Amino acid sequence: MKEIVVISGKGGTGKTSVTASFAVLGEKDLVVADCDVDAADMHVFLDPDYREKHDFYSGELAQIDPETCIQCGKCAEVCRFNAIDIVNGSHHVKELDCEGCGYCARVCPVNAIKNIRNHVGYWYRSRIKTGAGMIHARMKVGAENSGKLVAKVKQEAAKLAESTNKKYVLVDGSPGIGCPVISSLSGAAYAVLVTEPTLSGLHDLERVYSVVERFRIPAGCIINKADLNIRNRDKIREFLKDKAIDLLAELPYDLRISTLMVGGRTMVEDPAIESGAMLGKSWNYILNRLKMN
Ligand code: SF4
Ligand code: SF4
Repeated sequence: MKEIVVISGKGGTGKTSVTASFAVLGEKDLVVADCDVDAADMHVFLDPDYREKHDFYSGELAQIDPETCIQCGKCAEVCRFNAIDIVNGSHHVKELDCEGCGYCARVCPVNAIKNIRNHVGYWYRSRIKTGAGMIHARMKVGAENSGKLVAKVKQEAAKLAESTNKKYVLVDGSPGIGCPVISSLSGAAYAVLVTEPTLSGLHDLERVYSVVERFRIPAGCIINKADLNIRNRDKIREFLKDKAIDLLAELPYDLRISTLMVGGRTMVEDPAIESGAMLGKSWNYILNRLKMN
């Protein structure tokens, strides 16, 4: 089983639309992993059935038993994260501020505080509209540690691919270059970098490629809306040539794609969309390249 990871140095480049198109092209030969857990939106295109829902915990959180608490205030005094508040005369832990260090529990004179597992979100196992399996997730608002949830999604996707004899896991990675992206990239056989012809697009492509290069992952690039700025497109082309990155496709700006997306369809589902055919060629190129490795 090989992993193909689609990433971008920033949000809004069209990464998810490209990944969803690849997911449709891959039909039932793959498992899809939506690792953009902080802003998951592959479900908009792929219509998952949410057949299994699982809790996800990360780290710990202090919890005060109001029956035992004598309101002495010692816990609030020692908490350096100001995570303990007084509401209507009672001490409460502010979940979003608590780091789960456990110090408050040590100073509590009546053992009213215990640490509980921190519930930060859910992960799902679904079947999508092509019949393929998909693992996806959702973080709770303000929750941290999305890198760990990304690792969980990838692990479950790999398990599903192994148990159902699929050759590929297609991963929609997080934008940026932080912990969730690094987690998305670990173990990848090929990275697809999606960018746009702007100076920030080039800058973020350079940043995200520095991570891919460090992992020594072969990479290809898709320039979305390539015809919007020819000068910046040419600068991206130069960068790709210099770094020996495959130029997979230059997708033209096409307003019809927005209409398709609003209807929950991908670029490859309308034969009139030129970008769909280009992505079809890119997908075949990637699969052939992986067969050779
Ligand atoms: S566990 Fe640590 S961070 Fe959380 S409330 Fe207690 S002292 Fe503060
Ligand atoms: S230290 Fe214990 S008893 Fe005192 S306010 Fe905090 S939870 Fe209540």
